[in-house]
Amino acid sequence: MKKIAVLTSGGDSPGMNAAVRAVVRSAIYHGCKVYGVNRGYKGLIDGDLFEMDLSSVGDIIHRGGTILRSARCEEFRTEEGRKKAHNVLNVFGIDGLVVIGGDGSFQGAQKLSEMGFPAIGVPGTIDNDLAYTDYTIGFDTALNTVLDAISKIRDTSSSHERISIIEVMGRHCGDIALYAGVAGGAEIIIVPEEEYDIDEICKRLIQSNNRGKKHSIIMLAEGVGNANEIMEQIKEKTGLDSRATILGHIQRGGTPSAFDRILSSQMGAKAVELLLEGKASRVVGIKNNEIIDMDIHEALSMERKFNSNLYKLASILAK
Ligand code: ATP
Repeated sequence: MKKIAVLTSGGDSPGMNAAVRAVVRSAIYHGCKVYGVNRGYKGLIDGDLFEMDLSSVGDIIHRGGTILRSARCEEFRTEEGRKKAHNVLNVFGIDGLVVIGGDGSFQGAQKLSEMGFPAIGVPGTIDNDLAYTDYTIGFDTALNTVLDAISKIRDTSSSHERISIIEVMGRHCGDIALYAGVAGGAEIIIVPEEEYDIDEICKRLIQSNNRGKKHSIIMLAEGVGNANEIMEQIKEKTGLDSRATILGHIQRGGTPSAFDRILSSQMGAKAVELLLEGKASRVVGIKNNEIIDMDIHEALSMERKFNSNLYKLASILAK
């Protein structure tokens, strides 16, 4: 009988629980024992593992966050820390590890694989910043959370005839700002992947205002800058009333969408299959609606392709 361990690492994302559930239940279905690791790589170093059964993942598919908790662990970045973690895995008799997290967590998984320990990555991050997969677990839910906020901010910015700048997460990736901006009918979208000109933006805002359009939504990806600074520049250059909203951590919480739950279920099950096939150092993804797997190193070295067609369309549609 094989023993599989599962952990969640890095920033949490809605759907991680559904992925843990899928790993546990499909591994047990295939006759394996499953161990949950608390607090990501930190728990691995500390030996904070516990056996999971079918009911331990009951009633979690709809819950945001992660029952395994998540953490950032500096010690795991060191060779000594990873040796400790490797020893723990050996002591518990674990044969393979599923790591649910973002690119940093995948680098950790890759290092473990290089030490001869089979590890498989499942992309759990709201940022959608991994090049090899069309979607990461949590992105769709975060998008809907942001969209809901845009609708609410639009109501008040329309009543008060204001410009609203909404800063969203995504680190160096502008996908949350772009997709939520398109879905929410934002007038302007500012992302790290495309250059922007504050004077050009201000000119558009003044022209819109002169045409009688008294409120606008500007989506700002956090990787570009701070919403308060952009607001000050707009106020100064246009004299128009503006407000900044930084959505922050509400984007990482909430009940996962149907899409994220289905994606998590498929990806968690695929990770287990790969370990049972004797594969190591792979990541699971979705490409053209098919669940795929790829070498971790190859996946991490791929360059992200920004959806510039959608970005162009957004500016055509927003007038
Ligand atoms: P998110 O995209 O949501 O931020 P992430 O997985 O990229 O998630 P990180 O903080 O970058 O989040 O990484 C999570 C953990 O993975 C780190 O705290 C560390 O323990 C481990 N890790 C990251 N990079 C490396 C690396 N180069 N080598 C070994 N371990 C790493």
